[in-house]
Amino acid sequence: MNWWSRFLDCVSPRMCVICNHRLAPTEHSVCCSCLFSLHRTDFHLTPYDNKMARLFWGLVPIEKAAAFVYFHPHSDPAQMVYQLKYANHPDIGIDLGRIMAQEMIPSDFFQDIDALLPVPLADKRMRQRGYNQSEQLAIGIHQLTHLPVITKALRRKSFHQSQTKLFRWERQENVSDTFQLVDDHELTGRHVLLIDDVCTTGATLCACINALKDVEDIRCSILTLSFTKKD
Ligand SMILES: [Zn+2]
Repeated sequence: MNWWSRFLDCVSPRMCVICNHRLAPTEHSVCCSCLFSLHRTDFHLTPYDNKMARLFWGLVPIEKAAAFVYFHPHSDPAQMVYQLKYANHPDIGIDLGRIMAQEMIPSDFFQDIDALLPVPLADKRMRQRGYNQSEQLAIGIHQLTHLPVITKALRRKSFHQSQTKLFRWERQENVSDTFQLVDDHELTGRHVLLIDDVCTTGATLCACINALKDVEDIRCSILTLSFTKKD
């Protein structure tokens, strides 16, 4: 941390997005204690066959799937995702992307990936929020892996209805034609890693992969910040 950052930290202290305690100079967005207590999925250690990968089997072709932590409503990761999406904190996404990448790099998860493809937001939502949380995660992952981030290949059509109030089959109906391929030149022949904040039913990621189905020789894998655990 340089002197300017230290000065800013004195004037406006940085707080942990989970416990709201003050962060140490070496901590970023989440304090060490909260980071330690997050419930990891460890899916990246068995990326071809895990609970998340199985959501997509028989629906769309994927290579690997991983999520950083389990998501339960009102849990610590839920607080983290809320801050990332709704509290106007784009930097949290970059920090969390870096944290995920740092923990996953030793497993070789990124080794055969060619590019990162954040799930796009619809234009209207992007204007409201000012940033795309999935793109922020991808930027953080890029900073440690140096994988390029592709942002112009897919477009998301306007958002019709809040996803959270719908049943699973309705969600799949609702998002099935949400994405449109607009430029495939960065995708042809590549293994892309789709990045999103949350995976619950997998419907949004399925819709993304469906929109990529005509790209020649593309392979898709998936990485999300959190995975909703079904009890
Ligand atoms: Zn904390």
